[in-house]
Amino acid sequence: MRGLSEKIAAIAPSATIEISNAAKRMAQEGIDVISLSIGEPDFDTPEHITDACIDALHRGETHYAPSTGIPLLTSAIAEKITRENGFSAGQDEVIVTCGAKNAIYEAMEAVLNPADEVLLLDPAWVSYEPCARLAGASVRHHALSAETFQVDDSLLSAIGPRTKMIVVNSPSNPSGAVLDRDSLRLIADICTDHDLYVVSDEIYEKLVYAKEHVSLASLDGMAERTITVNGFSKAYAMTGWRIGYAIAPRPILRQMEKVQQHTISHPTTFAMFGALAALEGPQDCVETMRREFERRRDYIIPALRDLGYVTAPADGAFYAYVQVDGDDMAVARSWLRDIHVAVTPGTAFGTPGWLRLSYATSMENLKEAVERIARI
Ligand code: PMP
Ligand code: GLU
Repeated sequence: MRGLSEKIAAIAPSATIEISNAAKRMAQEGIDVISLSIGEPDFDTPEHITDACIDALHRGETHYAPSTGIPLLTSAIAEKITRENGFSAGQDEVIVTCGAKNAIYEAMEAVLNPADEVLLLDPAWVSYEPCARLAGASVRHHALSAETFQVDDSLLSAIGPRTKMIVVNSPSNPSGAVLDRDSLRLIADICTDHDLYVVSDEIYEKLVYAKEHVSLASLDGMAERTITVNGFSKAYAMTGWRIGYAIAPRPILRQMEKVQQHTISHPTTFAMFGALAALEGPQDCVETMRREFERRRDYIIPALRDLGYVTAPADGAFYAYVQVDGDDMAVARSWLRDIHVAVTPGTAFGTPGWLRLSYATSMENLKEAVERIARI
């Protein structure tokens, strides 16, 4: 038989998904495993959202939709962006995708050529590099300060002649850091000076604790070069629905639409009606979940610090990022084997020597996990 694709063979599997799969297998075997591996709200989708989807199914919303998504939803997203995110978006600058992940991939396919390079700010979420490579481009890494996880002047030296795009993710998965206005201004200045595109992944925008979320596209000169990515998975506990979206300047959006037309056509029609209800319905469910994540954060971060661990800022999202001695891959393996606690090694995010613990699980699980970690 002839060999398979070298491009795909060179791409690592998703560490977040692989480790969570391993934890699920252990649970099926009857092992009492605590999974702090995958970043997934443990809440059910609010009922008014599932009801809207069920109603749509009963109404017969089971047909193909326009390739950028149902017009009611693209228009609701454009309004949401204009109302909440400090820049204006028209309905024709919105594409609804199969999760934010799909939007990131399409953005990279739409913008990048094989000679281009994407700059990642480490620690960076696991799928950015594979998406860039799937799009045929290469990746350059720049380490953020391991104390503040903010951007400083050193970012300038990371821009090479082939750098065409920066991926910015605030609040950050895995560090939990929220970029402040100075960091965002620095990024914006560098992008305008060097004519760079940006993917601004804002999927955790609703999960911030005593900090302000600022959309990069709201800064001067940025809307025309920024693809803002967001979705419903985290804010509305809708991971399995696979609905995300992007806002991009029309020429980029048109390129993304072509990728979508030839691959997925569009996300599931009736699921988009659920997403519409999420945006148009009551928002107190978002705040209730945010407060519960905050309560868990306020438990787990001090608990880990009391055990002697150094932790990253944890100002947003639902991850504790923890420094460990030695090989993080080996530590993660030993935690899984010896105390049955599943976590994701920092190597998966470009920063060896760290572990990511998702606190999107019950307080009871978190307390039990801390007891087990204390035994090591
Ligand atoms: N970006 C980040 C930073 C994430 O953590 C995730 C993980 N869910 C995604 C994008 C993808 O989310 P979705 O479920 O909408 O594809
Ligand atoms: N984004 C979540 C995580 O980082 C979900 C898994 C994934 O899509 O990678 O764990």
